[in-house]
Amino acid sequence: MDLHLKNKVFIVTGGAKGIGEAIVLELANEGAIPVILGRSKKESLDLEKKIKDEGGNCLNIIADLSEASVCEKAVQQTVDAFGEIHGVVNNAGVNDGAGLEEGTPERFRKSVDTNLMHYYDLVYFALPHLKESKGAIVNISSKTALTGQGGTSGYAASKGAQLALTREWAVELAKYEIRVNAIVPAEVMTPQYRRWIDSFDDSERSLAEIESRIPLGKRMTTSEEIAATTVFLLSKRSAHTTGQWFVIDGGYVHLDRAYNE
Ligand code: NAP
Repeated sequence: MDLHLKNKVFIVTGGAKGIGEAIVLELANEGAIPVILGRSKKESLDLEKKIKDEGGNCLNIIADLSEASVCEKAVQQTVDAFGEIHGVVNNAGVNDGAGLEEGTPERFRKSVDTNLMHYYDLVYFALPHLKESKGAIVNISSKTALTGQGGTSGYAASKGAQLALTREWAVELAKYEIRVNAIVPAEVMTPQYRRWIDSFDDSERSLAEIESRIPLGKRMTTSEEIAATTVFLLSKRSAHTTGQWFVIDGGYVHLDRAYNE
């Protein structure tokens, strides 16, 4: 299926590693122009080189997304380079364990600042360009918004708010034919996930236990599987899909707990 994404411009936050990297690569594969926006400098530069070596095009913007002005500048840099923006993937986030019993009000606020605010800021500044292009927005949320995790109030609150904003923006922006959808991953092996699983005493055993509870294939979801759905949602091939949450997790969150084949 041709997704008709050639030379279309998409900003991907946290686009240098993990799920974001896979989305960037999938966009480049489709002939689109990904803008890799995030703070991982070495990985961003490596990724830019890989895409350009393979004949693609992209833009690298190295920045921490903690201030609204960073998103404003990134949008301006993108428009200066390419003149238009066809979509935004809000993806950057860190499960930072700002919990209730072990947390503090200050850590909670900081976590929400880190995980939520730039989702709004980037869309706010990109909006005039998305109106022009009748563009698309994909918010990468998390299963923690649906299931809870324990010990991570700031992250879970941010991920829940991202799902609410997906519905809210889908309503507000439908008149411009801007579509807004969310992806809800659960267990995807990325640099961040690796760090988390390695924090367990017996990390390989913990990983095997998690995998054994995933109905479809008893395995983790791959970043590429998240990317494929994200890129489809960015394309006009999904022209009548908006306000939806796509839980891509091999049935982990929703299938019957009694299922144990
Ligand atoms: P990852 O491996 O840590 O990659 C995320 C990238 O985003 C990193 O380059 C990171 O930089 C960057 N980043 C994070 N916060 C940033 C900020 N404030 N400013 C600039 N760059 C920032 O993470 P991932 O596992 O791919 O996760 C991507 C998204 O999927 C996140 O929203 C996460 O909540 C969601 N998710 C992932 C899973 C999973 O199983 N992996 C499950 C549910 C939801 P640093 O490396 O410097 O932090």
